[in-house]
Amino acid sequence: MGENEHAANWEKYCRFIEVLNPCMDDYLYIYDMQKDFYQISPGALKRFKIQTNPFHNVVDGMHRFVYPEDMDMLAEDIEKLISGEKEFHNLQYRWLDHEGKPIWINCRGRALKDEQGRPEFLIGCINEIGEKQKADNTSGLLGESSLMTYMQEFAPKLPDGYILRMGIDNFKEINENRGIEYGDMILRKTAECIESVILPGQKLYRMVADEFIVVDFLGGSTRKAYKLYKKIQQKIGEFIEDNQYEAVYTISGGILSCSQMEDHSFSTIMKLSEFSLNEAKRKGKNRSYVFDEKVYQDFLGKKRLVSVMRQAIYNNFEGFEVYFQPIVDAETGKLKSAETLLRFQSEETGTIPPVVFIPLLEETGLIIPVGKWVLKQACFRCQEIQKNIPDFRVSVNLSYVQVKKSNVLKEIISNVEKYELEPGSLMIELTESGFLESDSNFIKLCDGLKENGIVLALDDFGTGYSNFHYLYDLSPNVIKIDRSFTVKALQNTYEHALLEHIIQMIHSIKLRICIEGIETDEELAKINVLGPDFIQGYFFGKPCPYDVFYENHVRTAGLE
Ligand code: C2E
Ligand code: MG
Ligand code: MG
Repeated sequence: MGENEHAANWEKYCRFIEVLNPCMDDYLYIYDMQKDFYQISPGALKRFKIQTNPFHNVVDGMHRFVYPEDMDMLAEDIEKLISGEKEFHNLQYRWLDHEGKPIWINCRGRALKDEQGRPEFLIGCINEIGEKQKADNTSGLLGESSLMTYMQEFAPKLPDGYILRMGIDNFKEINENRGIEYGDMILRKTAECIESVILPGQKLYRMVADEFIVVDFLGGSTRKAYKLYKKIQQKIGEFIEDNQYEAVYTISGGILSCSQMEDHSFSTIMKLSEFSLNEAKRKGKNRSYVFDEKVYQDFLGKKRLVSVMRQAIYNNFEGFEVYFQPIVDAETGKLKSAETLLRFQSEETGTIPPVVFIPLLEETGLIIPVGKWVLKQACFRCQEIQKNIPDFRVSVNLSYVQVKKSNVLKEIISNVEKYELEPGSLMIELTESGFLESDSNFIKLCDGLKENGIVLALDDFGTGYSNFHYLYDLSPNVIKIDRSFTVKALQNTYEHALLEHIIQMIHSIKLRICIEGIETDEELAKINVLGPDFIQGYFFGKPCPYDVFYENHVRTAGLE
């Protein structure tokens, strides 16, 4: 009899939870403490990593969707409820969403007892706390959790239409310069501008910080989304004018077409719309960007590559290698020095060219540890080579990130000392790109190198526009002419004459010239008449691993 009644109660409560599911944003649950079963509002399965409903072995099953650090606290509380030591459950802790991201929840419940006074069911409610408020008090708009509920109504497939995600450009600066209250006014006014131009049936939500989302499930195309974005831009322009230019700001927009996407889950839509908005901002702000799958895949590929490189750095730079390319004295054709050139490969990514991976190392700051490592390898190898060629010099490329964000001068000097090199045995190559704003670190580095007798080269000469003032500002020792300029000089007489004059001019201020990219003996002959000081190119040798370089260039030179 007791058994049957227990089962009937369980059925009744479960049914109750199911019926109420569409009416609420929170989740109801029931926990059968005697039979160890757990049932929750079906909506929770879409939000959290819960696999089955109901499920048995509750504490074990919860491991799958409860944030690991919170599990012990929860298990302890459950034990107290089962033993009857506690009647009320009220805990704030974290559950995991489908991507494993922790979500703060508040779980409350009350233990019901059976006729014998033993704890029977725990019945209660779970609501999300933290960032997910239902409505936003500043803009008066509904927030992210309401957007999620709205979209879930259509699951698994959204109707045709678009998502337009917008963000105020440089909102942090508005807040910092004019105060939070002023920032709130801008948010409110922006919300009003958007609301005034959207169509009936389109929905507007406020996301975190300075972002808004317009949802169009009326079949609107990306072209229509773009038009709406332009209207919003115009409205904001009018507000700025009415407000006598007291606040001047812009807004960017990322556009996502529903029919373009395969996965319509809320988390995917949030991810892709955020990516689109970021792209709009990255491309210069005050503009819109329509999601492009190819660009997104490319972005993911780069992210993967960064994580593989990060792991490689952690694994003692496994997969990175320093190659050496000979640089010869133009007059004698003898090996004078070598440029160190970084390479990267991994099982997962294959060989990646430096033009791809170096900018990523720079963006992430990883160039700092990698650059340190290259410098050390270069100095260590130079010391070895000098046993055969005493005046051998090694040349190392430095990124602007190393100059801006690390004490690279100290690093350079300590390596020169550690490997007992003459300071003139090390050449540092700097390119003008990235240094455009006259950075004090940059000038300090150049001065420091000169004071310490380390050779400074200006790399990639002939690829930028402001080359000449660098010659005076930095007064490098060597100018390296980029291969792209060399190739032009080899192909047409105008560029050839131009290069000739540049070389003369550079020589007149007592600097040395290195020509890069000579591949054949005809090219060599054509360039030699211009009187450069050093030559680097495949004709004398491609960049290669140290052992190969030593075998092909150093050993033989030592025997001469
Ligand atoms: P860079 O410093 O101007 O290096 C010269 C580039 O020209 C190298 O490309 C070299 O392999 C290539 N090269 C030399 N001679 C010839 C030739 O005769 N024909 C052709 N087709 N190419 C030639 P690589 O190794 O692909 O490196 C590209 C760029 O990546 C470098 O340009 C440099 O800016 C950067 N890089 C390479 N290693 C490092 C490093 O350790 N640190 C930093 N910060 N940048 C590096
Ligand atoms: Mg270089
Ligand atoms: Mg170069």
